[in-house]
Amino acid sequence: NKQIIFKDYINGFPKESDMILKTSTIKLKVPEGCNDAVLVKNLYLSCDPYMRSRMSKLDDNYVPIFTPGSPIMGYGVAKVVDSSSPNFKKGDLIWGMTGWEDYSLIKSTEGLFKIHCTDVPLSYYTGILGMPGMSAYVGFNEISSPKQGETVFISAASGAVGQLVGQFAKLLGCYVVGSAGTQDKVNLLKSKFGFDDAFNYKEEADLNAALKRYFPQGIDIYFENVGGKMLEAVLLNMKLNGRIATCGMISQYNLDEEEGVRNLFVIITKQIRMQGFLVFHHYSLYPKFMDFILPLIKQGKIAYVEDVDEGLESAPAALIGLFSGRNVGKQVVRVAYE
Ligand code: NDP
Repeated sequence: NKQIIFKDYINGFPKESDMILKTSTIKLKVPEGCNDAVLVKNLYLSCDPYMRSRMSKLDDNYVPIFTPGSPIMGYGVAKVVDSSSPNFKKGDLIWGMTGWEDYSLIKSTEGLFKIHCTDVPLSYYTGILGMPGMSAYVGFNEISSPKQGETVFISAASGAVGQLVGQFAKLLGCYVVGSAGTQDKVNLLKSKFGFDDAFNYKEEADLNAALKRYFPQGIDIYFENVGGKMLEAVLLNMKLNGRIATCGMISQYNLDEEEGVRNLFVIITKQIRMQGFLVFHHYSLYPKFMDFILPLIKQGKIAYVEDVDEGLESAPAALIGLFSGRNVGKQVVRVAYE
């Protein structure tokens, strides 16, 4: 059983060497006395920015931190090889928390989702049909109270979550602009995902001026993925009664201390509603989300771009690539074929 082991807690940007490839042996059976467990063969692993928070020992962490010497944990798609759970049987496909290894013993099936629809690529359950898809749906459709004709700005717009938020907003008849870190990503936003406009934030000396160019009347909804300087500039461009769905702040994850953000006073003067959310508290909406998204995929009304790396060995580089913008679309690692 090949595994990617978490070496030790880190500060700053994660490096490939913080994760070590190791081989061990594993019995392909759920051990005696382990009730409600499944032994799975991992097929796809998801690389997600929140995994960075699991690499540091913080007092107030909102997700369990990794254990040094144990495999990296994350969302994945897997096939059940053995089960002691009444809810899962050998051969079932699942998505949920698993280990960065060929085979994982998942000791509680709570939080695992059985995959029923298999006429889409299975990797989709790490993205559009999994946690990032739910994040886009919850943050945009449920939290930001969108209305037809409103103006929407999305940062990290070509990524797993952003590309979907933009398309959900277009389906509703909003005017949508996204920012991303390369010209290729900007082109993708306009040509593939149907954004009305997009810009490369790395080429804008003055983010406030850039936003004024795209939103002369202001922004109704900001879908926040990056925080920091972008948030400062967005605040100056929000409309009265605007909403900010605060999904993530990736520009802050590798800093020892969070940057100060200016312009917060406009939250009062423009009566802005800024609301954060953690997607895993909204999984009860998953069936409703599937009813919404599956027809869109099947009717070709939604585009989805993923960046699939091959082999467990490629996972550390894929994960750290999220923080330099190496990924184009949803970052996935294929561990095995079904
Ligand atoms: P992406 O697929 O968008 O990958 C991350 C992207 O962020 C990179 O490709 C890069 O794109 C951009 N980025 C990296 N560093 C910076 C930086 N310093 N400043 C600006 N942009 C940067 O990730 P996801 O779509 O999976 O996640 C997007 C956000 O949503 C993250 O903040 C994540 O933590 C958050 N999230 C929150 C959830 C919740 O429950 N609240 C659930 C899921 C995600 P580029 O080339 O454009 O710079």
